Amino acid sequence: MIIVLKPKVTKKEIEKLSKALKEKGLSPFLSRGKERTIIGVIGDERKLQEMPLEIFPGVEKVMPILKPYKLVSRDFQKENTVIDFGGRKIGGKRVEIIAGPCSVEDRESLFKTAEAVKAAGCFFLRGGAFKPRTSPYAFQGLGEEGLKLLADAKKEFKMAVVTELMDPRDIEVICRYADVIQIGARNMQNFRLLKEVGMLRKPVLLKRGLANTIKELLMSAEYIASEGNLEIILCERGIRTYETETRNTLDLSAVPVLKKLTHLPVIVDPSHGTGRWDMVDPLAKAAVAVGADGLLIEVHSNPEKALCDGDQSLKPKKFAQLVKELRKVAKAIGRDL
Ligand code: PEP
Ligand code: MN
Repeated sequence: MIIVLKPKVTKKEIEKLSKALKEKGLSPFLSRGKERTIIGVIGDERKLQEMPLEIFPGVEKVMPILKPYKLVSRDFQKENTVIDFGGRKIGGKRVEIIAGPCSVEDRESLFKTAEAVKAAGCFFLRGGAFKPRTSPYAFQGLGEEGLKLLADAKKEFKMAVVTELMDPRDIEVICRYADVIQIGARNMQNFRLLKEVGMLRKPVLLKRGLANTIKELLMSAEYIASEGNLEIILCERGIRTYETETRNTLDLSAVPVLKKLTHLPVIVDPSHGTGRWDMVDPLAKAAVAVGADGLLIEVHSNPEKALCDGDQSLKPKKFAQLVKELRKVAKAIGRDL
């Protein structure tokens, strides 16, 4: 449920109410909007039967949240969630691009790619060190060695690092190096993993599962939020359909739908969404046009030699050109890039 507080509610009144809710075994989440402060309450609401909340001073009204996802819904928070990375923000007016190789392969190619991504004006460097590969015989990533290379590139080019976590056993090592923890499509419904990252104080990039609905994506985000971490970035990365011309079918309608249903930032990954480098350009532009807060794009200094996803990776020059053109699309809809 949502408790809407009176405009002049005091800090003491909020504390008293929060304490009473906790004593009933419920979890209160405070959300301060521009006009109103509200408390989202999670837990078994039947426990409130003998404690009508309206009697608390400072409470204006109590409303149920009818959707199955609560903390991540727009009902809970009207304003967009903006995640701040020391100045560069995801979810704000500026469309942010996360770019880099599918996997970290070696220092030279990572540095070349990172340099190009930074030179194009982007701040977020991606790269997998633990890779979810369909085949157990395919390159699985460099593990901690890859994370160390990402940390070196981050220092050299002053960027933030996004990398995937597949297993709770790697949380500690990944947290040492990553600024954003990616939960990949294949783990979107790994609920234990979601709860674990919910307990962290680090932003999470949650990718839509290969065959999951928008509602299921939001329920997975709710798992993370319910543990206290509301810094979640949702990512549309294409879903399985009967179409085979592209690796997946990029569901761009998910962007405006999600923007309506949730306050969380929404980004689009046209690289995995199509699996084809020549489709990244038009779909990246379309994604910005439909209101994505960011893009995730695979870039490789030498895609022909890439150990993973070379077919969908852009060369640095093409990437730089695309970013330039994306700026025009962003401007046309009143955003920066
Ligand atoms: C990736 O971003 O490298 C990746 C494996 O993506 P997805 O989980 O969307 O397949
Ligand atoms: Mn990839």
